Amino acid sequence: MEKFSDTHFRQQFPILKSRVNGHALVYFDNAATTQKPACVIERYQEYYQQSNANVHRASHALSASATADYESARKRVKSLINANAEEEIIWTKGSTESINLVAQSWGRTTLQPGDEIVLSYSEHHANIVPWQIVAKQTGATIKVLPLGKTGQIAIADLEGYIGERTRIVCVGHISNVIGRVNPIKEVIRVAKKHQALTLIDGAQAIAHLKVDVKDLDCDFYVFSAHKMYGPTGIGVLYGKRALLDKMPPYQAGGEMIKTVSFEQTTFNQLPHKFEAGTPNIAGVIAFGSALEFLEQQDHLGLVAYENALTSYCFSELSSIPTLKFLVDEAPDIPLFSFTLPGHHNHDIAAALDSVGIAVRAGHHCTMPLMQYLNVAGCIRLSLSAYNSVQEIDFVIEQLKKLTQTVITGSKLASLSLDNKAASFSSPEIARLTVDDIYSMFAKAKSWDSKHREIMLLGKKQLPMAVENKTPLSLIAGCESHAWLVSDINAAGVYRFQADSEAKVIRGLLAIILAAVDNKTAAEIHAFDMNNYFSDLGLLQHLSPSRGNGVRAIVHKIQQLITE
Ligand code: PMP
Repeated sequence: MEKFSDTHFRQQFPILKSRVNGHALVYFDNAATTQKPACVIERYQEYYQQSNANVHRASHALSASATADYESARKRVKSLINANAEEEIIWTKGSTESINLVAQSWGRTTLQPGDEIVLSYSEHHANIVPWQIVAKQTGATIKVLPLGKTGQIAIADLEGYIGERTRIVCVGHISNVIGRVNPIKEVIRVAKKHQALTLIDGAQAIAHLKVDVKDLDCDFYVFSAHKMYGPTGIGVLYGKRALLDKMPPYQAGGEMIKTVSFEQTTFNQLPHKFEAGTPNIAGVIAFGSALEFLEQQDHLGLVAYENALTSYCFSELSSIPTLKFLVDEAPDIPLFSFTLPGHHNHDIAAALDSVGIAVRAGHHCTMPLMQYLNVAGCIRLSLSAYNSVQEIDFVIEQLKKLTQTVITGSKLASLSLDNKAASFSSPEIARLTVDDIYSMFAKAKSWDSKHREIMLLGKKQLPMAVENKTPLSLIAGCESHAWLVSDINAAGVYRFQADSEAKVIRGLLAIILAAVDNKTAAEIHAFDMNNYFSDLGLLQHLSPSRGNGVRAIVHKIQQLITE
């Protein structure tokens, strides 16, 4: 499968024509960030080429033009969410900053000991941690709304959680893991009954639903441009004017003041009061283009298409016998979270990546939700209106293959290792040398086959004895649990043992250990791990986005040999 159905909508996104690891890109990580249409990319460049100037300040033509475009994006947001006034639209870096702004500006100055902040179990960390911080600062406490079987906020007992002491209720419109529309109107109704404010985290909803803040009657609504085809580093805080007016500035500096003297400073009006310093002008203007692009689409057509993708993908995923969805029933948007028992989530994501499929695996910045649902993490496929049925078919085919096949082949398959735990006296780990690794990878030309070799190494690595898997041996910074222990002999030669829950990490550990095992500290320091990975064609595993695990392993080795 090389070419996916080219709808007019899809054609606007140049990146979707690219190839990844030798395969046509299948981008199913839209909940993390969507791709950008050509008009947004071009607008960004055009701004810097033709009208770069600071906004609101200078009295020259370029500044006037930049200011007009910047403010016209604000107007578009106002009409997108049906706010009352442009003053109610505050530019931020994203949903995260919008929530922090409310927590610090409103929360820190209003909350008192005994006051309650109500969240739900499905919140993203961005809608938990800012509230924990302000709760600590003010003496307020946090209450958490439970979820029903379908993963939505349970409304049966809202009054058991939202009451007289509640000052604010902050919940997601759609969770980034569950993909179902929460009953936020009911939550807002109950909050209002108790004179509590409401903040709705719309990060996942805004790209899929028509949001009307007047109809919702929420006090705050937040979202990020990058999840709705706009650039990164731009977000929105909507707030009711009367509230924003009363709230003190969040950050201070230029732009947010009216007058400054050493005796007294007065603050600017809304929305500038909350926009200290030179903003992300190019980002706002390019976001304006994303909004214009969306205005030009047949919204109902896109929604119908997304709904069709949702039902199709749900029924196809349901046909994989071992697949376990995190919650019951189909999601409301094309976002699917599941596990494949017997396979580590990261192994599945890495295997899909090797054939060009981008998905996300892990806790998805919702650790409390993972604990609540009693899973360590999950795999998430999140689609957009530019994805296709053929792409779904391709992913399903790969998932079926992965759950059915056992990796075989390569010289390591012939090694028959006992099913016992490794110990420092067992030689198996040290059997592999850097030369062995080089010769394995010399034959593996494509990314698929390199990935296959890594998985094979992972599979053949002896497990570490349980008693060695302690908090001390845990490698901090690896998203999947991984452990490393060392031993040193009288001659100063180190032996290492390592293990991980994920085969892909076990494989990477084997590659790294081949380079450091049976060496002295000086020899280990002298070894250039970057070169080694580069020679093996594995630099992708060292890139900033994917290399944290590898870097954490290397860091742990360095720590162990300098202790
Ligand atoms: N809330 C939810 C539900 C999200 O999915 C995200 C992003 N994953 C955020 C908040 C934070 O958004 P940002 O990183 O753009 O600030």
